[in-house]
Formats: sequence, C-alpha cells, structure tokens
Amino acid sequence: MLIDTHAHLNFAAFEKDVKKIIQRSVENDVWMINVGTQYNTSERAVEIADGYKKGVYAAIGLHPLHLEEQKLDKSEVGFLPKFKTRSEEFDYERYKKLAQSEKVIAVGEIGLDYYYKPKTKRKLEIFKQKQREALLNQLRLAQELDLPVIFHCRMAHDDLIQTIKQFNNLTMRGTIHCFTGNWEQAEEYMNMGFYLGFNGIIFKLNLDEIIRKTPLDKILVETDCPYLTPSPMTGRNEPLYVKYVAEKIAKIKNLSFEEIAKITTQNAKKSFKINQ
Ligand SMILES: [Zn+2]
Repeated sequence: MLIDTHAHLNFAAFEKDVKKIIQRSVENDVWMINVGTQYNTSERAVEIADGYKKGVYAAIGLHPLHLEEQKLDKSEVGFLPKFKTRSEEFDYERYKKLAQSEKVIAVGEIGLDYYYKPKTKRKLEIFKQKQREALLNQLRLAQELDLPVIFHCRMAHDDLIQTIKQFNNLTMRGTIHCFTGNWEQAEEYMNMGFYLGFNGIIFKLNLDEIIRKTPLDKILVETDCPYLTPSPMTGRNEPLYVKYVAEKIAKIKNLSFEEIAKITTQNAKKSFKINQ
C-alpha cells in the first residue's frame, strides 16, 4: 500500500474522470490526499473526499501564488468559471467552516513562493509581507483546528524556516511538500519535526544525496498530480504513479520497494492522523 500525500484530483485536469482515477488508485491500494490551493479547489477537495468512506482525504488552504493576480492555470481551475477571480484574500472563518468535514486532515498547501517576485524593492517588500501574513493566519488556523500543515515553498526556504520559528508553536506538525532545498534546510525542517515530501521532481533534479541522508521515518511520497509526472510515465500524472517515486527512493536507499511503501505509509498515517 502507498499514500499519495499530495494530489490534485480536485483540479480541472481531472474534471471528466476523477471517479475512474480514484477507483483505479484505491483498487491498487494507493490512497491519497487532495490538496487545495484556494477556496474553490479546497472546497472541491472536501467534496471529493466526502464521497468515500476511506482512502481519500482533503487538505484546505490558500497557496501563496493565489494572493496575486496571475495567469490562471487552466488545468487547475478551468472547470469553475464562476470562480475565476484573479486573486484571493485568506478568509479565516470561511476556511474554518470548510474544515469541519472529518475528511479534512491538514491545512495546505500554504507557504511562500518567490518565483514570480516583483522587481522593485518596495513592491518586493509588500509581496513578501502579504505572503507572510496569509501564511501566519493559516498557521493559526491549523493550530486552532489541531491539524498538521502542508507547506509549499519555492525559492524561499530560509524565510519559511524563520517564519515557522517565529510562530513558535512546538506542537506544529506537517510536511514540506516537493522538497528541493539543500541539506542544511532539510535538517532545519526535520529538527522542527517536519516530514519531507518527494515526488516526480526527483527524476528531473538530482536529490539523490538528500534522499540518501534523510532518515526513513521522515520521508513521505507524493505525486503533485496532474504535474511532475515521474519517469517512465508521460502525460498527465495521477496518484497511481506514486509507485515510481517510491521505487526510485528504494533504489537510492538500497532497500526494497515494499520497505519504502510500508514506512512511508506509516509516516503518512502518523503525520496526518489517518486511523483507517
Ligand atoms: Zn500542489
């Protein structure tokens, strides 16, 4: 059995065949967490999870990129034209209400993303401050609901580490999804009790050394589908392909696929308190 700890079957890319994709995942013992990126995709993740007794869970949150006006990614929100807002502010009470479903097992994906950062110093400050505020508000929500967090972080690990430390909640649990930072940052996160999530990006970037050094009890596997399809597959990614990620980690760590599957599933169940 495997748990894809970061999937987006809540996105438009799966509008037409989400049931079929879930069925073939669950039949092959691959469970999943569908992760929200803004209110509508969070709501959709909950709606999907509520349709299954077990094996399909939801995370709700506002991704830092959705705080800004941006080109909409068709595969993400195209199927909900009425939600084509160009940016969103974090509404604490609205998300809190959404979290009342028992299938909501995390707050995410939340974090910092400096990929599209503005060029002037003043705009950059405002941009970073806005992301930081939305992040802190969502950390407060996770704390109030006693839920773990799923972090998204791109080109901002040092600021994220600093923000988590300033928040100073010793009971905070969670995952750094799609980890691509350096070893020093990996250690910082793990020392604070976080797990590192690896996906198909390990076929594109060389993270072998990081994976080799990361203790087994800190590793989660994920797909980030429909994106980041792992080799040898091509086209749209899906939860079933998490097995290729686990296979590659097994190879790097010189262990069997079964061992990696077993320990990462245990880690996921523990981290997200999945008791099924
Ligand atoms: Zn994601």
